[in-house]
Amino acid sequence: MDGNGTILSNTILSQLDDHRIFGGVVPEIAARAHMDHLDRLIKGAMDEAGLSFADLSGVAATCGPGLIGGVMVGMMAGKAIAAAAGKPFIAVNHLEAHALTPRLSDQSLQFPYLLLLVSGGHTQILVVEDVGVYHRWGTTLDDALGECFDKAAKLMGLPYPGGPNLERAANQCSDLDAALTRFPLPRPMMHRPDCDFSFSGLKTAVRHHVDALPPGELQMSDVAAIAASFQASVRDVVADRCKRAMDQFKKSYPAHTTPTIVVAGGVAANMAVRGALEDLAAAKGFTFVAPPLKLCSDNGAMIAWAGIERLRRGDTSPLNFAARPRWPLDPDAEPKTGAGI
Ligand code: ATP
Ligand code: FE
Repeated sequence: MDGNGTILSNTILSQLDDHRIFGGVVPEIAARAHMDHLDRLIKGAMDEAGLSFADLSGVAATCGPGLIGGVMVGMMAGKAIAAAAGKPFIAVNHLEAHALTPRLSDQSLQFPYLLLLVSGGHTQILVVEDVGVYHRWGTTLDDALGECFDKAAKLMGLPYPGGPNLERAANQCSDLDAALTRFPLPRPMMHRPDCDFSFSGLKTAVRHHVDALPPGELQMSDVAAIAASFQASVRDVVADRCKRAMDQFKKSYPAHTTPTIVVAGGVAANMAVRGALEDLAAAKGFTFVAPPLKLCSDNGAMIAWAGIERLRRGDTSPLNFAARPRWPLDPDAEPKTGAGI
């Protein structure tokens, strides 16, 4: 990426085929795949950009949070390049990279903004005050939204990774009203006086519907109807929780006359979620910003951009920076669920 945020190369090598038969990511396989392919990927990216390491102003690498094996491999490669080329190293928080990606795609986006971070491991509402300054207003008490999409999709017999396949199935439903009547699903946490989420009950309700279907192979029309009902629940819950956060934002930042709500993370690629926020923002007088679909799920460009945001502030990291399996954006927020939240 150049200093203006122009993407010169954004290479992704998917490991999904290696993990698919296990129905989820296997940490040891992930770490080994990083070792096997990273050098070639970095070389390919440098060639595509037409640059050598000597041309760089800095090297950014993810240093957490997440499965530590893969993180360590990437971090060590980044440090090695920085050390060998005599360039600054920037340790990037993967969640900060998601949180700042909307400023890459829309460079007029100013702090503070309200962020719905919805990914495979996280579901949070945060105020992004500045680079490195985050206030968590809400989080999930159990499953993350991406995890819920993936588990629900698995129950419906849809292939891994579930989120995008569930969305595709829902798009095939031709009668939403009939789907909502036949497969009603709960809207967990709706109307609670906070900004928290809970998705495990939604997943369980999907299981009950699937179990109640006639034995044998699932019919695509039933899967499409359950998927559409599922997305309608998600839409309502996301809108309700974000509405509350927007009201709070207006009270907490009265001087901020052009408030903005932003969505980021893998589930931000979901059109039902984007649509819910777009409608809500229009009704509430907020500007809505979402990164283009290809920058929602994990990618290298978002890490490079977070690196640039930090480098611009002179905020570089020592070469002995330790990888962090847990690295919350708001360290003052109480953990409400397990690791990584
Ligand atoms: P985290 O960022 O919390 O560490 P992660 O990096 O594993 O988790 P992301 O790559 O940011 O997660 O997002 C992946 C998640 O997004 C998966 O759960 C995937 O199913 C979900 N997802 C991707 N596209 C869609 C979509 N179109 N609809 C719903 N979910 C989607
Ligand atoms: Fe992610």
